[in-house]
Formats: sequence, structure tokens, C-alpha cells
Amino acid sequence: MTALDTDAIHAGREDLSALGVHAVPLDMSSTYPVGDVADGGQAYERLATGQRPEPGETLVYQRLWNPNVDRFERGVAALEKAPEAVAYASGMAAVAAVLHACVLAQTPHIVAVRPLYGGTDHILASAMMGTRVTYAEPHEVAAAIEPDTGVVLLETPANPTVDLVAIDDVVAQAGNVPVLVDNTFATPVLQQPMAHGAALVLHSATKFMGGHGDLLGGVVACSPEWAARLRQVRAMTGALLAPMSAYYLHRGLQTLPIRVRAQQEHAQHVAMWLADHPLVGEVHYPSLPGKDPHGVVGSQMTGPGTMLAFTVAAGAEAAAKVLTRTSLITHAVSLGGVDTLIQQPAGLTHRPVEAAAQPNANLLRLSVGLEDPQDITDDLHKALGES
Ligand SMILES: *Cc1c(COP(=O)(O)O)cnc(C)c1O
Repeated sequence: MTALDTDAIHAGREDLSALGVHAVPLDMSSTYPVGDVADGGQAYERLATGQRPEPGETLVYQRLWNPNVDRFERGVAALEKAPEAVAYASGMAAVAAVLHACVLAQTPHIVAVRPLYGGTDHILASAMMGTRVTYAEPHEVAAAIEPDTGVVLLETPANPTVDLVAIDDVVAQAGNVPVLVDNTFATPVLQQPMAHGAALVLHSATKFMGGHGDLLGGVVACSPEWAARLRQVRAMTGALLAPMSAYYLHRGLQTLPIRVRAQQEHAQHVAMWLADHPLVGEVHYPSLPGKDPHGVVGSQMTGPGTMLAFTVAAGAEAAAKVLTRTSLITHAVSLGGVDTLIQQPAGLTHRPVEAAAQPNANLLRLSVGLEDPQDITDDLHKALGES
């Protein structure tokens, strides 16, 4: 077994020397020559039911298989220490595919631990995939399980408040029900949920894996059985990751470890600076006092991460003003890129969440980038100072 940093560079590229190339070839084919009908039909059958292609077999059609998507998936599987991974057009397409698979298996009940990304909360609350949801606190998961529960879904650190959940505790309560961890915020660099019993690990690859704010993608790391189910859903619904995006995501994985560790260092600096600022109320960041009640950092997660949130003491209106006064930091949704982004979850990403579960409007979420941390705090100083 090679180390994570090595896998980030090499996983999904094992055959390049034999191919006589150094960079990954990009395959944009929408369709593939089939040869004879019987062979084509056999390949079609295999791919449409979620199996992997046999070596040398025709790939038939891009909706069934794409080599760049496969390479990216192999990269993610290596980093998450998972047998396989299945990629989608976006994080939400990945969430929808898991819910779809639950409905198909006649286990449409979902137990979800809040807070969650606003879009995930919304797709669950709306029941638009044919699922029904019970929201539970981490300690209430066992009681929320029903005979037809398909998955228990949680995020840690959670979007937007960076709340931490002890995965092994939820796994113990879930019993035979698979636990899905949305690992978007931590990335496999800081946390590998499968080591703590998670069956499914989901990412919005749009965020840290892409890392440069120029694509959308989603991915689920899982067992071969789950991968076959999820690929079948993907082949039938068409929520495919585009080959070009897969190429960039696979390249993004190579710098994921150094980006995440450097961003984490910057986030620690910014969090401590914010915690000392007179106009800031509460700072949500796992290394600050009281923010890691279950001792997750150091056991489940190797560090406090790159994401933080803070309240503006003077209230929602003052918080909204801060967003208009940054110059280096961009006021925008999304996160995990090389540049620092700030946004108000109640107004944007978590707008669809029902009122009782909404984050406070004075809460701002900050995704700390790779800029010099002094420049980030200087920009925040200017933005906060006049509020
Ligand atoms: C952004 C995000 C998603 C949704 O991903 P998209 O790529 O935007 O569809 C899901 N979960 C978390 C934690 C996110 O931050």
C-alpha cells in the first residue's frame, strides 16, 4: 500500500507508461465502434447493468462508460480507501442517484442528520425522489431507523456550521443500515469515513477536488455492489460527469493533499484572528474551545479543516454589509477552491431549508483559500471594521 500523497499523484494512471504517454489521454467519444452485434450486445448488457467493461471490449456509448471518468473514479477510490467510486455530473446528481437506488431497492426511508448542505436538505424534505425523511440528532439515529430505511445520511464537518459528528457512533446505531457520509468539507486528505464504518462516501467534487472553481462534479466511493447499482442508475438517468471535467478532476486530485493542508493552515490562522475580533460573535471552527465536543479531531479527522463560519455580533444587517465590503475575498457560493469565498448561508446556499432548521442570518461561511493569510485577514478587517 502506498501513501495517500502518492496515490493522489498516481492512482488512475497505472497504465500510462505502457501506453507510452506521460499525461492522461482525453477520450471525448460519444460512441464507440462495436465490431459484431453479438459482442456489442454483450458489452451493452454488461455496462447497462452497472458492470465494468472486460479488457478490450467495446465501450458502446459514453452514457455507459468513459475512460477519463473511470480514471478519476479510481483516483477517488484510492484516496477514500474504497473498492470503487462512481462519478456524476454534480454533487446533487450523486445525492439523487443514491436516493434513487434506495427507492429501487424498496428502502425509501432516509434518516438524515442536520445540518446538511441546503440542496441535500431540500431534495430530502421535498420528497421529489420518492423518499421520505426523518431528521435526527446524531444520538437519535437508532430510534429513527425503520424497517425500510435505505441509508443514514450525515455530513461532518457539516455545511454550514462545521459541526462535527462521530461517524463510528452513528454507524453503531445504524446497525445493518448503510451510513452515507458527505465528506466534501473534510476531503479524504483529512478524513476517510470508511475506516469508521461508513458504507458510502459522497463528495461534491465541484469543491476541493476540482479546486479551481471551473467545473461541477460529484462522486460516491463505495463497495462493488453499491457501485453496480449506482452505475446502473447513472446509465439510465444520464447524470454523467463530462470527460473534460473528469480529466480536470483527476488532475485536481494530484494537488489535493497539498492544497488542503495549506488551506487548513491558513484557516487556523484566520479562525484565531476572527475569534479575537471585537465585532465577531461566535466563530465555528473545530480547533476553537468547545467546537469538538466528541473529540473527533485527532481521531476521525486529522486536523480542523479549511472551512469556518462566524457570526457578526451586530446582526444580520451588519453581516450583509460585510459581504459588500470585501475586495480580495469574493462574495459567492461554492467552496474549496484556491481562492477565498464568503457567503451568507441563510440567504443563499441554505435558503431552501425549512425555517426551523435555517442557520441564523448573521452567520457567514468562509472557505479559506491559498492566498497569504495576512491578506485574507486584512480584507476581513476592512470588511468588518466599518460595520
Ligand atoms: C456543494 C455541496 C453539495 C452539492 O454539490 P454540487 O456539486 O453543487 O451539486 C453537496 N454537499 C455539500 C457538503 C456541498 O458543499
